[in-house]
Amino acid sequence: MTDRYCVFGNPVKHSKSPLIQAEFAHQTAQAIEYTAEEVPLDGFTGAWRAFIDAGGRGANVTVPFKGDAFTLCDTLSHRARRAGAVNTLILGGNGRTYGDNTDGVGLVRDFAYHRVALAGKRILVVGAGGAVRGILEPLLAEQPSEVVVVNRTAAKAEQLAHDFADLGSIRGGGFDTVSGLFDVVINGTSASLTGELPPLPDKLFAANAWAYDMMYGAEPTVFLQWAGPRGAKLLDGLGMLVEQAAESFFLWRNVRPATAPVREMLRQSLNY
Ligand code: NDP
Repeated sequence: MTDRYCVFGNPVKHSKSPLIQAEFAHQTAQAIEYTAEEVPLDGFTGAWRAFIDAGGRGANVTVPFKGDAFTLCDTLSHRARRAGAVNTLILGGNGRTYGDNTDGVGLVRDFAYHRVALAGKRILVVGAGGAVRGILEPLLAEQPSEVVVVNRTAAKAEQLAHDFADLGSIRGGGFDTVSGLFDVVINGTSASLTGELPPLPDKLFAANAWAYDMMYGAEPTVFLQWAGPRGAKLLDGLGMLVEQAAESFFLWRNVRPATAPVREMLRQSLNY
């Protein structure tokens, strides 16, 4: 029987994951089936059990179920425990469910793909939601000189800084605490979804700085449109999406797919 995988979400029909995973499977000659499964908001656990019963071996998990996935796992990876969220489910040989989180490693690999070294860099992370919690451990592992997390709700950024303080130099606060210049500024808010710009100072980017928006789309986000004229080099979250997917594929199949052709294919499909 063909091994089955899927992405669970709600809504999920616009997900690029089936396209990405089909390309990985084709490229590595792995016989798998990967579908998008829309799940009722209160039905996550039942959906995973039903999927296993129908031959499911693993899944990606997207909004709003990463917390539900975290709760149902029998075993968690270290990075999933730190993230407080699971985006990759794996069915173990003993019928137990193992949970991992590949979002953070996806972001760091995307920087590596673009030859952006993070070691010794001063990094500003904007936002303090689930996605930011997921990236902080891999980001701090790169040994930046400092990570500053700022958020509209300052207490959430302060809490994150507290929770990750054992891993490196990190502090958190409200937008009014942003000071000095940064080598990398990562927008991890969902403000881009509604075309809003977080209130950031005009003088933010050091020489040769990078602006990264974790969101991606057919047009550069408002944040990237703002950052470009202020001297930053620009990256969107499409590469992160592909890299986190590649890490999930590797966890399931123990084969590492090439991401460059899939990046290219998606970029063309977005038409910019
Ligand atoms: P959450 O809902 O958990 O968090 C949202 C964050 O955005 C909070 O920090 C919130 O602040 C902030 N925010 C929302 N609106 C505004 C605004 N108008 N101005 C300033 N701040 C705002 O979302 P996630 O963390 O799950 O996702 C964040 C983004 O990351 C999304 O755009 C998502 O698409 C992207 N993402 C991309 C991935 C990829 O592979 N490329 C993977 C995962 C996520 P407050 O706390 O004050 O409400």
